[in-house]
Amino acid sequence: MSLEKLSEILHRCYQCKYCTFTGHPLFYENCPSLVEYKFEIYSAPGRMSIAKGILNGELKWTDHLIHVLYSCTTCGNCTTQCIYPISQYITEIIEALREKAVKDGVGPLPRHKQFGEHVLKEHNPYFEKHEDRLKWLPKDVELSDKPDIVYFVGCTSSYRQTEIAIATVRILSALGVKFTILPDEWCCGSPLLRTGQTDIVRDLAKHNVKLIHSLGVKEIVTSCAGCYRTFRIDYPRKLRVYPRFRILHITEFLEREIKKGRLKFENKLDLKVTYHDPCHLARHAKIFDPPRTVLKSLGVELIEMKRTRENAFCCGAGGGVKSGYPDFALKTAYRRLEDALKTNASVLVSSCPFCKRNLKDASEHYGVQLEVLDITELVAKALE
Ligand code: SF4
Ligand code: SF4
Repeated sequence: MSLEKLSEILHRCYQCKYCTFTGHPLFYENCPSLVEYKFEIYSAPGRMSIAKGILNGELKWTDHLIHVLYSCTTCGNCTTQCIYPISQYITEIIEALREKAVKDGVGPLPRHKQFGEHVLKEHNPYFEKHEDRLKWLPKDVELSDKPDIVYFVGCTSSYRQTEIAIATVRILSALGVKFTILPDEWCCGSPLLRTGQTDIVRDLAKHNVKLIHSLGVKEIVTSCAGCYRTFRIDYPRKLRVYPRFRILHITEFLEREIKKGRLKFENKLDLKVTYHDPCHLARHAKIFDPPRTVLKSLGVELIEMKRTRENAFCCGAGGGVKSGYPDFALKTAYRRLEDALKTNASVLVSSCPFCKRNLKDASEHYGVQLEVLDITELVAKALE
């Protein structure tokens, strides 16, 4: 929906102030930008007021307003905690306001603009070459000519957290799945959608979906929470691009295999772990149980953090924050590491390469003694 259309509902938020007056702890303590910057303007109702002011001309863009707008990780905690019907639209309004900032020539942040330009040229936001996208693929992994499934790798696992891509193909191979990887996979578009650069995303979506349709598969699997949300929610809802295949996160795929008895772990892992719910997988797409089923079947002891499932605290990387405000992203990840340390687990597990990246960066930056792993790495280890 456009910001103008959304304006019909956003006035309900700045007139309500329920969360502001009650001091609702899950609202105040779980909004990463409010925790960091303290002022109400950095909360959901604050950003709704900016949207209203910009739309009706009461406010003019300033550097400060841009900072407020782009320091939201789009984690969706406010949509979970808000008790009014506007809740489902809050992050949509924030993203629509970012689109308006881009149209008005004041957004996105310089780093976002640079990666947007790179996506146009090389189809990834990491300033890497498209021809290097599959460099990580182990030589002994066989891709099928007649696949049942496509593994959509995503940019972070293709260029940065390649251990997650390797673990995923090892798992699929060990299960005897006939799968392939798109030879010409492009960025799913998530980083552009989150930063208001929507114009170029439709081409990316059409390209990826057309390529997958040409293979005739019924399912794709992704190991990235951002790709998952983008394919499942944004392609049809925002871009009107309709995939004719099922989209599964790797944890949903593995849960199904476990329930059908096709996946059993003979070697149990003797580990104490805690699980971090990626916002785009959990709050946004309601995938809470599959990763927990997988972890339990691995035999690990799963100790939940106090803030978990729909109330989980964000890792701090999303919404363009990691590239736009890297120090704030690291501080937020450190706050999440503190949650994990309180469980006395030895491993912090997530199911998104971008969460792993930011949490691991923070553990190294702040010298936190806690191993950070993706769930695919644990599964691949158990299958070795
Ligand atoms: S976020 Fe929800 S509870 Fe808070 S002011 Fe807006 S509508 Fe009210
Ligand atoms: S999406 Fe997250 S960071 Fe943004 S306003 Fe809501 S709770 Fe705060």
